Amino acid sequence: MPKYVTILGATGTIGLNTLDVISRHAEQFRVFALTAHSRVDELAALCLKFKPRFAVMLDETAAEKLHLRLQGTDTTVLSGLAALEDVSAHAEVDIVMAAIVGAAGLKPAMAAAHAGKRILLANKETLVMAGSLFMHAVEQGGATLLPIDSEHNAIFQVMPPQRLAHLEDGGVRRILLTASGGPFRKASNAELLAVTPAQALNHPNWVMGPKITIDSATLMNKGLEVIEAHWLFNAPAEKIEVVVHPQSVIHSMVEYVDGSVLAQMGNPDMRTPIAYGLGYPQRLDGGVAALDLFKVARLDFELPDTARFPCLRLAFDALKQGGTAPAILNAANEVAVDAFLNGNIGFLDIPRLIESVLGSMKIEPVNSLEQLVAVDELARATATEWRQLEAC
Ligand code: NDP
Ligand code: MG
Repeated sequence: MPKYVTILGATGTIGLNTLDVISRHAEQFRVFALTAHSRVDELAALCLKFKPRFAVMLDETAAEKLHLRLQGTDTTVLSGLAALEDVSAHAEVDIVMAAIVGAAGLKPAMAAAHAGKRILLANKETLVMAGSLFMHAVEQGGATLLPIDSEHNAIFQVMPPQRLAHLEDGGVRRILLTASGGPFRKASNAELLAVTPAQALNHPNWVMGPKITIDSATLMNKGLEVIEAHWLFNAPAEKIEVVVHPQSVIHSMVEYVDGSVLAQMGNPDMRTPIAYGLGYPQRLDGGVAALDLFKVARLDFELPDTARFPCLRLAFDALKQGGTAPAILNAANEVAVDAFLNGNIGFLDIPRLIESVLGSMKIEPVNSLEQLVAVDELARATATEWRQLEAC
């Protein structure tokens, strides 16, 4: 029986890589729904090729255009957030790839969790914003959560198979979360001050969407991933160590009390974790080239520098503070990245803005999704105000 797959964020880099893996195993998978925000041409082309039952655009005007483009096909076009939730929770869906970028991915991922789907989670912002609520929904809904972020997928592969209440229960001493260090690993403070969006968008090892590429350059991506690892693996902040590993061949490691360190390695290609998630527990060929160790030749490791890259420290601090702090961090970061990409603030203003927003808002215990959505909105408004004041 083929499995039915909904791909949230189908037009993005993760969405396209997912479709690439699916097309290599057409007998095992059927595309149930493809979704996007507003890029009509891109989603129309994917619908004509993969013939999903539903296509959803968040934007209503874009959905109307897509509807005209898909007339005469068997694809029904829908729009809005409720439709994104519906195609994530639909009774006929087996697998949901959660690959929307940013906080916008939270509610559809939640819908998939409540409906007990197999969730391939690329959208790390879901766990950063609402880790406790999301993990609870996964458990209550009977969903299967498989991490797609390459580091977390690596950790998942080398962790004990059962989910641990405490790392010690599985003999795990700590998690070693690898980071490429981004394009400015060796840059001085003066050089960081002058970084342009074009330079920051040029990642040395990975091809990714613009938001995560900027996050990689500031090391906020690693900070978000520390919080993501905390929720996925029940790991306290002090048991997660970030290791800069510029070759991006080891995708993360787990250290055990007997001194063993288990690593998952491979070429930096997102089709590896995607194929793992789609095929689990079987292995699928996702079209990834074999790792040539002789070509790699050496593996380097460095400590991260939180003085030059304060975003990593801010994320660790937010995790330790807990409550709504990570949701505020995430929202402020989304506004900051957007402002940087639009040329409104400098590269080093990104951590300044986030720190200022975190310092100005009250941190509270998390009690509901509605509360987090309100906190997210307030943090965005505060961040936007900061940006406008700075521009004066
Ligand atoms: P992209 O920017 O390439 O794609 C984002 C996708 O989300 C697009 O389909 C876009 O639609 C859609 N989208 C954007 N905003 C909204 C919104 N408000 N509502 C609904 N849909 C929206 O991102 P990536 O594929 O690079 O990343 C996706 C997620 O996966 C992120 O959370 C990222 O952190 C995570 N991730 C990505 C990795 C990578 O290698 N790329 C690695 C690990 C994690 P449209 O095209 O219409 O704008
Ligand atoms: Mg990652």
